Amino acid sequence: MSSIFTTQSIQKTRSHALDRPLLEVRNLEVEYWTRRGTVRAVDDVSFDIYPNEVVGLAGESGCGKSTIAHAITRLLKPPAYIVGGEIKFAGQDILEMEEDELRGFRWEHVAIVLQSAMNSLNPVLSIREQITDVIRTHRQVSKKEATERARELLQVVGIDPNRINSYPHQLSGGMRQRVVIAIALALNPELIIMDEPTTALDVVVQKQIIQEIQSLRERFGFSILFITHDLSLLVEFSDRIGIMYAGKIVEIAPAAEIFAAPKHPYTERLMNSFPTISGPRQTLMGIPGSPPDLVSPPSGCRFHPRCPVKIEGVCEQISPQLLAIGPNRMAACHLVAEEVADEQQN
Ligand code: SF4
Repeated sequence: MSSIFTTQSIQKTRSHALDRPLLEVRNLEVEYWTRRGTVRAVDDVSFDIYPNEVVGLAGESGCGKSTIAHAITRLLKPPAYIVGGEIKFAGQDILEMEEDELRGFRWEHVAIVLQSAMNSLNPVLSIREQITDVIRTHRQVSKKEATERARELLQVVGIDPNRINSYPHQLSGGMRQRVVIAIALALNPELIIMDEPTTALDVVVQKQIIQEIQSLRERFGFSILFITHDLSLLVEFSDRIGIMYAGKIVEIAPAAEIFAAPKHPYTERLMNSFPTISGPRQTLMGIPGSPPDLVSPPSGCRFHPRCPVKIEGVCEQISPQLLAIGPNRMAACHLVAEEVADEQQN
């Protein structure tokens, strides 16, 4: 490993106080302006990510989690528009950045790994060209130095550096995804956003890649925003987890607490919708019905048409607020709020 690589990684990580958020998302609102009407895909979402922390976002397809990933990196394209809120990285407002500032910011400070490596990689360029392009766009290094660095990165993600002149179609799906992770690591960013990075892979390769991501984080100390519909995967991997439903965060808590005692009825069912990679066999509960059409979301709690424990006369009328229900834990549910209030009285 080159000294440039390790030294810069440490400097970046140390330049942020560990007790202050690296990323602050406040009251974020994103809309898709479609012919059918306005879809509020992300509705008043707030969360932080601290240095060296893994925060997971989970929820069914269309709940807004990928839209958040694209909003943070300012990669949203029309008809998607950020219509409200703030996104700050190390105190700097990402939403205020000009295009040239953004180009310097992406990859250097925040990198993104998307679900389909085939869509992220250019099929007509070799792996060497794709990794060195990112390095040489941001750093004044020779082709030889960039290639040396690309070989190191391949080694780091478990690919034989002699494959450096391969083209994407010559690699397996798992190797292609590792290449995308190598590109994300190229400039030692402080935050890597991973949007369903293993969903297209089989379970064995998925587990290998997750283990590799874990060891890379321990080694280089970056933070991760990990997005998936598979909550059981997140529980094994994240420090904290936010659960999203229909554009809103409905519960956010340390992963161990979500695993031991999910509070929100949606979290509970989502937990039970996937078999764990390791752990005992159990009957899966599933979630009846489908997520709502966000052109006209349900009144009150958006989960009420699917919620088996809803409070009649309340849940379909009043939207629950995200409230603190314990140290470092929040949920948006009338039932949970009542339970917490009862516990406090007793
Ligand atoms: Fe269910 Fe009501 Fe809680 Fe919504 S607020 S999750 S409908 S109990």
